Amino acid sequence: MDVDDVETVAVLGAGNMGHGIAEVAALAGFDVNMRDINEEFVQNGYDQIEWSLGKLAEKDQISEDEADAALERVSAVVPVEDAVADADLVIEAVPEKMDIKKDVYAEVEEFAPDRAVFASNTSSLSITELSEVTEREERFCGMHFFNPPVRMQLVEVISGAHTSAETMDMVEDVAERMGKTPVRVRKDSPGFIVNRVLVPLMNEAAWLVHEGEATVAEIDSTTKYDMGLPMGSFELADQVGIDVGVHVLEYMHEVLGDAYEPCPLLTEKVENENLGKKTGKGFYDYEDGPGADVPSDEADEGVKNALLAVMANEVAGLIGTDVADAADIDQAVKLGAGFPDGPAKMADAAGLDTLVETLDERHEETGAERYEAVEYLRDLAASGEGFRGGDTDAHGDDREFETIAVERDGRVGHIELDRPHRMNTISGELLEELSEAIDALDGDEEVRAVLVTGAGERAFSAGADVQTMAAGGGDPIETVELSRKGQATFGKFEAADVPVVAGIDGYCLGGGMEFATCADMRVASERSEFAQPEFNIGIMPGWGGTQRLRGIVGEGRAKEIIFTAERYDAETMERYGFVNEVVENGELKDRAMELAKDLAAGPPVAQRYTKRAMLAGRDDTDAGLEIEAQAFGQLMSTDDVMEGVMAFMSDEEPEFEGK
Ligand code: NAD
Repeated sequence: MDVDDVETVAVLGAGNMGHGIAEVAALAGFDVNMRDINEEFVQNGYDQIEWSLGKLAEKDQISEDEADAALERVSAVVPVEDAVADADLVIEAVPEKMDIKKDVYAEVEEFAPDRAVFASNTSSLSITELSEVTEREERFCGMHFFNPPVRMQLVEVISGAHTSAETMDMVEDVAERMGKTPVRVRKDSPGFIVNRVLVPLMNEAAWLVHEGEATVAEIDSTTKYDMGLPMGSFELADQVGIDVGVHVLEYMHEVLGDAYEPCPLLTEKVENENLGKKTGKGFYDYEDGPGADVPSDEADEGVKNALLAVMANEVAGLIGTDVADAADIDQAVKLGAGFPDGPAKMADAAGLDTLVETLDERHEETGAERYEAVEYLRDLAASGEGFRGGDTDAHGDDREFETIAVERDGRVGHIELDRPHRMNTISGELLEELSEAIDALDGDEEVRAVLVTGAGERAFSAGADVQTMAAGGGDPIETVELSRKGQATFGKFEAADVPVVAGIDGYCLGGGMEFATCADMRVASERSEFAQPEFNIGIMPGWGGTQRLRGIVGEGRAKEIIFTAERYDAETMERYGFVNEVVENGELKDRAMELAKDLAAGPPVAQRYTKRAMLAGRDDTDAGLEIEAQAFGQLMSTDDVMEGVMAFMSDEEPEFEGK
């Protein structure tokens, strides 16, 4: 069976995950039977789907008609037979208990047609063991969605010991049809990919505190502000539920050995029912205290090394046992856990030999098994290569970028900002890659116009990657340099010989808007939103916004946009002259490409000199840019910026004091 044969999907369980999976299946055009054990539960799931579809329509991510049609495709049922009798694919999302799941499969086997493929959304249980309850072991796999399925891009598709290649291909195609990115997990291994990286990281963080080597504040400050992960380790544990992490860890301990022994700091929290946010208290106090107040200035190099070393060891464990390769691991962890970079790439950047040394030293000091470097890591480090082949930074003609995608379509060079998991926010690496890409395209005689867009449907770019930016610790000199780097990179687009079009779909904020400002023309979808929101957190536009925006909308409007820091819709920005054309949602990419192709057919020499003349004829922008960079750097050391950033992170109103 292949994806085109799949018409009806049965989703078992209408809880947190089940209703979300049912919703994405219905949106993809499948008929969905969603089942739970009683009317109330299944109706509750159905109501949540209705609410969520309404929200998507409200935000213009789908039309009202699409929302109605999707809801119509969902049937809420209680009898198992009704749910699965005509199912081509059964996705199970019942509670994470082996015996409950086994009972469910035994029952479903009785009523489902022979052709139906079974997929379990289990987060940790053995796919092989579950499949053996049924008569269709080869048509059984894992299909691990992330929470909430509607928003999370990743689906881990897991092969059990008996799963056929055809089943894996089919389920991956279904995930793709649902608009998701499947990552193949070739072997049924505890925690699959994402949890295998995240959970031992949480455990290591706990051990470091337990052994008195670091405080919770130091660990979370390191993970969030130095490593640039979306949350501190303990903040994440609280968010997910400490019991959930411990549960996965216990299973890893049982199957993979003592290196995964859960730290007593975690198990004690579970015993005392301090499970995190959901119980009001975990490592942070959400009821009587301020919640996860992670300090930005307590990062510690030793902590970072220990965490990176343990993480590299897990990555090596996965690759060495052929569960997944490094590129897939990086892709999965970026999409599933919001890491700015994949763990393999982070380990390569730290140097595998240094990380092996760290593991060896710690192993010698503590004797703990979790510091025993796996053979694959040791061999790779000795060979001087990295997980990603040691050449991820090679600069060749066929250069593969990490944060952008560059393609040629006829005479148009198309650059797509490719960090949809972080709303295409701009990191230091992205700036470097953009700079390199525009140099190459502008120097290529075949390329006569450049189009820039953002991957996904949510954002052109939501601005600077705040965590990447904060990683410099707010050092003024570094920040001046960062400002200059952004100004110069975006400036290359402004000064390019060929016309540049920005195709904007979704958020175009802060640094993202400063980038779009450097295009020669801007096309935006109706749902796009624009802002220079820097004043909200006490900073100022630092990538050219104080100079270049006024060249397009005039000084009055530029000041209005920067000083109010408000969100503007596409129509208003068209009126202000920032957007040249507004198009219907869904038509943006085609229309932007069409415009770029039109411009590519124009007279190159006349275009080049017109651009140069207009740029040269502006006021002294360079002097302005220099003042902007200096001021931006100075601002970084003010109390107001700290206040602004902290308030932003915790979704509160800042109180600026002018200090
Ligand atoms: P949940 O408790 O919210 O939902 C489970 C639902 O299954 C409940 O509504 C329950 O009544 C129903 N159920 C119980 N027995 C059933 C049966 N025999 N037939 C049909 N429905 C039955 O749990 P959840 O968070 O949705 O988790 C479901 C599965 O998804 C688990 O395996 C879990 O590990 C996995 N998962 C959860 C997350 C997450 O973040 N919550 C993420 C990925 C995967």
